[in-house]
Amino acid sequence: MDTAPEPGMPDNRDWTTVLDGGCDECGYTPHDPVTTSERMTSAAERWRTVLVRAGAAERPAPRVWSPLEYAGHSRDLIGVLGDRLEAMLGGENPTYADLDGEAAVREHAYWKADPADLSDQLALDTERTRGILAGVGDDDWERTGRRGDGYEFTIGSLCQYIVHDVEHHLHDVNG
Ligand SMILES: [Zn+2]
Repeated sequence: MDTAPEPGMPDNRDWTTVLDGGCDECGYTPHDPVTTSERMTSAAERWRTVLVRAGAAERPAPRVWSPLEYAGHSRDLIGVLGDRLEAMLGGENPTYADLDGEAAVREHAYWKADPADLSDQLALDTERTRGILAGVGDDDWERTGRRGDGYEFTIGSLCQYIVHDVEHHLHDVNG
């Protein structure tokens, strides 16, 4: 498919609630941020399994992302986690650049990505973000940063927030 498909469904829910109560849709309960690196490795392996499936590029409904698009979005999230960790380690309470997930999926044209290439890119971005995580010292987990809307994360809560997001999308695609 060369022309851009329809946008996905808008998602206006405030997902920061999962930081306190977990997620009743995918079963996530807030993890110990120290284990973030392991969870990211596990998620990258699960995405690899999803992306070798036949039909990974097919949308289940016109406005629901295909597994390939969800994988691309998850790759973006993993990169954003690395960028935001760098900003929080390098400065006091920075404001993050916003991520428009839908725009990023369209900009990267993930619907026509090669699934094997995307697997490799997701794994590489996972390694990059894990490398940055390795530099988070015991005293750094409470360092803060702010989203464009003013919501304040710590390094620990941002790790929980983004790991949930990636794991939720694996749940979306039965990965
Ligand atoms: Zn969830």
